[in-house]
Amino acid sequence: MGIIKTEDLTFEYIRRDEEGNVEGITTAVDAVSLDIKQGQFIAILGHNGSGKSTLAKHMNAILYPTEGTIWVDGMDTTEEEALWNIRQTAGMVFQNPDNQIIGQVVEEDVGFGPENMGVPTKEIWERVEESLRAVGMYEFRKHSPNKLSGGQKQRVSIAGVLAMHPKCIVLDEPTAMLDPNGRKEVIRAIRGLNQVEGVTVILITHYMEEIIHADKVFVMDNGKIAMEGTPREIFSQVERLKELRLDVPQVTLLAHELKKRGVRLPNGILTTEELVAALGL
Ligand code: ADP
Ligand code: MG
Repeated sequence: MGIIKTEDLTFEYIRRDEEGNVEGITTAVDAVSLDIKQGQFIAILGHNGSGKSTLAKHMNAILYPTEGTIWVDGMDTTEEEALWNIRQTAGMVFQNPDNQIIGQVVEEDVGFGPENMGVPTKEIWERVEESLRAVGMYEFRKHSPNKLSGGQKQRVSIAGVLAMHPKCIVLDEPTAMLDPNGRKEVIRAIRGLNQVEGVTVILITHYMEEIIHADKVFVMDNGKIAMEGTPREIFSQVERLKELRLDVPQVTLLAHELKKRGVRLPNGILTTEELVAALGL
């Protein structure tokens, strides 16, 4: 069993009127089965309302399945006594860094998690230092988080999760509120966590270009896994991606159109460099 495994995971939101009568049911996650191996970089794509956040919240035991099961590092999330362990195994980073940073000073903020876990003081400082270095924010350790850019704040919140030494980090659209530079910084930091620190990464995004380095991609639609494969396999299916209302990168679209017009190109071009090379320019 991998670090995150789900079997027919289903979650229903129940809407009620003032009297408590059921008005309607939304099946936000619909019989999802997946198995994520330790150390993988996983991307989960999907347009708004496809069920990404609801799925993510199960990985951290914020929500519990209506039907089916989810295991985090082998622990069934419905086992109450495992809750603390689950939250420590799978850290969570959300969209808005302002809601996640509570400290007045960067290093203090990053130290909160391990402090709450009862980590000895000396080790807290070691963890704070190593986490801030891992996301490239060590030189800002004495700064006030309020004065940082969005991308820097988000990297501080990632460091805060990292300081708890999770095996897995789930990031729910961590770049959605950032400018292009901030997005690049955060994606670079996330790749570092995975490649250098060996942390399992589950990156939820609707930016296609952020999935290029993933080992595996799941595309969600209407609560279901609509596509799964390597980034290249996913990018090869331009028509399907458009059906699923995803914005295909310009370079992939261009390669797709050229292919349709008879230019010989490999499937699933991901970058400008690849297209240039494939055209023999
Ligand atoms: P995504 O993260 O991909 O945008 P969500 O998991 O947030 O998708 O939402 C999936 C579906 O569940 C949507 O139809 C959404 O409207 C519905 N939903 C999300 N949160 C709630 C909620 N708290 N109460 C009722 N319905 C919800
Ligand atoms: Mg969401």
